[in-house]
Amino acid sequence: MNIVIFGPPGAGKGTQSKYIVKKFKLYQLSTGDLLRKEIKNKTSLGLKISSIINSGELVSDQIVGNLIENFISNDKYKGKIIFDGYPRTLNQAKNLDELLKRYGQEIDTVLKLSVSLETVKKRILERQSQEKRVDDNEQIAIKRYKTYEESSEPVIDYYKHSNLLRVINGEASISEINIEISGILEAIKG
Ligand code: AMP
Repeated sequence: MNIVIFGPPGAGKGTQSKYIVKKFKLYQLSTGDLLRKEIKNKTSLGLKISSIINSGELVSDQIVGNLIENFISNDKYKGKIIFDGYPRTLNQAKNLDELLKRYGQEIDTVLKLSVSLETVKKRILERQSQEKRVDDNEQIAIKRYKTYEESSEPVIDYYKHSNLLRVINGEASISEINIEISGILEAIKG
């Protein structure tokens, strides 16, 4: 079972991914986490991308494409990946399909968490005090939400056309969302 979890910053993608990973024995592939690790380790890629991430823009499709290929090509993760924060552009969505096909896999469902800008701001400020992410302040949060709004529509349309999209009310409580997602995934597992 390969799953995409999609939604604006602060929608709860990371929280829900961690829950799904545990319950359904999957692996979380968070491009945001991988990129932050590069920055923390001060790799040449990390140095290149830190200003982009801190301005709330997206890094290039090629950079994230390379990161996810490392994962998809590894047999250990085959058919067990939850893509958290990838794809974010139409180009990335197409690239993901191609990569999965190359390694004999596909996406089973796309879970879209819908939340308002107000909720995003509130959650990001809460997260800032807990996790101290440098891109979690109100101004950058607004910019990241706008970036999402600008780039997400073609991705959503793409998955609507392939009948994979499931829209979930991300304003509900964590446990309510857990239950809804579990129901969807149990039905897919059959
Ligand atoms: P996230 O942790 O998913 O909110 O990602 C944090 C930041 O990493 C984003 O604001 C982007 O700058 C960058 N990023 C993460 N995933 C992607 C992606 N799929 N494409 C481009 N940039 C990304």
